[in-house]
Amino acid sequence: MPARLIDGRAIAQRIRDEVKEEVLILREEFCVVPTLAVILVGDDPASVVYVRNKAKACGDVGIRSDQHLLPGDVSSEELLNLIESLNNDDAVHGILVQLPLPPHISERKVLEVVHPMKDVDGFHPQSLGGLLIGNPLFIASTPLGIMELLDQTGIGIEGKHAVVVGWSVIVGKPTAFLLLQRNATVTICHVKTADLAFHTRQADILIVAAGRPGLIHGSMVKEGAVVVDVGINRVGEKLVGDVDFNSVVEKASFVTPVPGGVGPVTVAMLLRNTLEAYKRACKR
Ligand code: NAD
Repeated sequence: MPARLIDGRAIAQRIRDEVKEEVLILREEFCVVPTLAVILVGDDPASVVYVRNKAKACGDVGIRSDQHLLPGDVSSEELLNLIESLNNDDAVHGILVQLPLPPHISERKVLEVVHPMKDVDGFHPQSLGGLLIGNPLFIASTPLGIMELLDQTGIGIEGKHAVVVGWSVIVGKPTAFLLLQRNATVTICHVKTADLAFHTRQADILIVAAGRPGLIHGSMVKEGAVVVDVGINRVGEKLVGDVDFNSVVEKASFVTPVPGGVGPVTVAMLLRNTLEAYKRACKR
């Protein structure tokens, strides 16, 4: 029987509705508008689209998004000064720096300057370190979204063998830690893994975040596995994932489509993180 699709758009809509409702109540109570500052450096077409989508998603749920558009040749110092001023601005509750940054700017240095209490992207070392001890300030939106997709689909995690392909700081590693935290047995694979298929075939839950279109074929998936495709790759005019959908759908029990799977939930989790940052600021 072909796999059931995990409908990321529907799950994202539920989260957005919840965030919207809570924002409405809290805006009344605190008389402050939750605000996300979004910084975009340069005009990378994909980043421009991502920033536009995030701004629209914020607007839809009553979160103000202030966009700071900087030229691609902006100096590190100027960018760091902007982040410092947003850190000190009480009207700003969350700060998001759209990645990637141009090569002359150190991403790590920039992400470390964002105040941990405004780090709604979860990329600050304090958030990442917190993940390791099971108590993060914020969790990055994509790993958080992956867990939400699994939970809302009713997929048990404890005791399952989860295989994560890709160990980036923004997706693979935090996802692996979140799965471990929930008592999955976790294998992390990467570009140097010998015999990738051997590992992916062991997976009850397979998370793929490699940025390689069609990397995972149905022959690499265990019968009945849950497959979460994080990849977003532009092939010609089409957006495709890292999973060869047509062959995997015949083997898996559940699979996320691309587009319409992890992507929309990632944006919804950013909204939830911004709401959380706002609530913490209001309580202070
Ligand atoms: P990255 O380039 O930082 O990391 C890729 C990882 O995949 C590395 O650990 C690498 O070792 C591994 N890898 C690469 N080729 C491999 C191969 N042939 N076999 C096994 N492992 C391999 O990428 P990233 O930032 O984690 O993004 C991964 C993908 O997820 C991209 O397509 C990106 O666009 C997408 N993404 C989607 C969302 C979303 O919201 N859906 C969010 C972030 C990233």
